[in-house]
Amino acid sequence: MRSFWLEQALDAEPASPVPLDHDLSTDVCIVGGGFTGLWTALEIKRRDRSVDVTVIEADLCGSGASGRNGGFAMTWMSKAAKLLEICGGQEGVRLLRASEDAVRAIGAFCDSHGLGAHFRQHGWLWTASNRRQIGAWQSTLDVLARHGLEPFDVLAPAQVAALGGSERHLAGVFEGSVATVQPALLARTLARVASEQGVHIYERTAMTGLQGGARPVVRTREARVTAEAVVLALNAWAHELPVFRRSILPIASDVVMTRPVPDRLHAVGLDTGIAISDSRMLVNYYRSTPDGRLCFGKGGGAIPFAGRLGRRFDDASPRREAIAREIGRFYPTLADAGIAAAWRGPATRTATGLPHFGRMPGAAAIVYGHGYTGNGVGPSHVGGQFLASLALGARDEWSQSPMVERRPARFLPPEPVRYAGGQLVRAAVGRKEAAEDAGREPGRLDTALAGLAPSGLAPVRKP
Ligand SMILES: Cc1cc2nc3c(=O)[nH]c(=O)nc-3n(C[C@H](O)[C@H](O)[C@H](O)COP(=O)(O)OP(=O)(O)OC[C@H]3O[C@@H](n4cnc5c(N)ncnc54)[C@H](O)[C@@H]3O)c2cc1C
Repeated sequence: MRSFWLEQALDAEPASPVPLDHDLSTDVCIVGGGFTGLWTALEIKRRDRSVDVTVIEADLCGSGASGRNGGFAMTWMSKAAKLLEICGGQEGVRLLRASEDAVRAIGAFCDSHGLGAHFRQHGWLWTASNRRQIGAWQSTLDVLARHGLEPFDVLAPAQVAALGGSERHLAGVFEGSVATVQPALLARTLARVASEQGVHIYERTAMTGLQGGARPVVRTREARVTAEAVVLALNAWAHELPVFRRSILPIASDVVMTRPVPDRLHAVGLDTGIAISDSRMLVNYYRSTPDGRLCFGKGGGAIPFAGRLGRRFDDASPRREAIAREIGRFYPTLADAGIAAAWRGPATRTATGLPHFGRMPGAAAIVYGHGYTGNGVGPSHVGGQFLASLALGARDEWSQSPMVERRPARFLPPEPVRYAGGQLVRAAVGRKEAAEDAGREPGRLDTALAGLAPSGLAPVRKP
């Protein structure tokens, strides 16, 4: 099934996919037509219009995570501690600022290209929705302050409850530079603009094989694409390639969209473009739409077995009812707003919560970027700059950054331990967070198992 966002985008501008049916030769072949692939294509063209760029996409551009997400265009500020640890102070601060620039650049792109993608820069409220989460942000704010950065405003509890429209928000901080978008409209507009700028886009064209060498070859069912460089912009689907199987964990995130209830949203103060999420591992994230709906998502859904992702998370969300109940718990006046759509999609987690960029081991002309861990709408624009430099062989701040890994990180155990362990950890996190919501002390075993989950936002401190 298509997400609500993609349906809306295709209604506004129907797709006319062109599959690839002949062999071709190109300078850069990008595999994957989501935000990462499309920003990379545009960035290459921005640097040098004469570079021939081809994108192949298995389904439609924007049909992956890019057209199904919550539409929070965030910075990397909430992940500053890890970023600064990996990159050091100077480079870490450069990338943190680049992630703020990325949100501005998305806004500028939306302003100058047609559909606008409903870009609204009204900030992000990072909250505690139970007592245990209070102060989850403090260590991040401390690290940022040590580097002279103060992107978050610390708010009084009453301000947080008022801004978030619910007494469930007990405390929180506010980052003003975050925006919300209609993500599928953004992805489809990116594809249209890339095409107008001379990028060749072939949809309904899946890569079925990949060969390294000085001129790598991407195989599809009907054709071979020979290129100077290949960019793998597959995000969760990179997990299907054995080389990445132990470095990224695809995990479903589920989203529910209510029917339009503009008056009720106005009554609780949620009719702006503010983005809100809490500090749990199975994170709740929510925002309104300009036509008065609440879009409410939850992370930490299903995981696939043994790299078999395929179109596994293309179906309706199995957590529809659970998320609808969560909406009622946060916003009692929206409990019977009615659900217009409920879908899910593949997000990816990495050990650090930050994406991986690099060159394929033993095949330097094949580069990759994936693993945004629920925060890719804004950072995929930064990813486009890393990948453009890597694909073009530039020696610059992007290709030389410590963020570019020497070889794919390995943190996941092999199957069947990964799948069984993942299920066990996910269930323990759910029980732990339910106990915390109820004001109970979670079991020690659940707490220990939950501690094995890969990081997302900063770890939750005990108040
Ligand atoms: C439900 C959900 C909610 C999220 N909410 C947010 C949010 O609010 N804010 C945020 O910042 N991030 C969020 N994320 C994460 C964000 O959506 C991603 O980080 C981002 O979209 C990644 O973009 P991408 O281009 O790397 O990946 P994708 O958009 O997944 O693109 C990869 C593309 O590769 C294609 N593909 C796969 N296999 C092949 C093949 N063999 N050949 C050719 N093409 C192939 C796929 O069809 C897909 O279009 C969310 C993710 C999900 C799933």
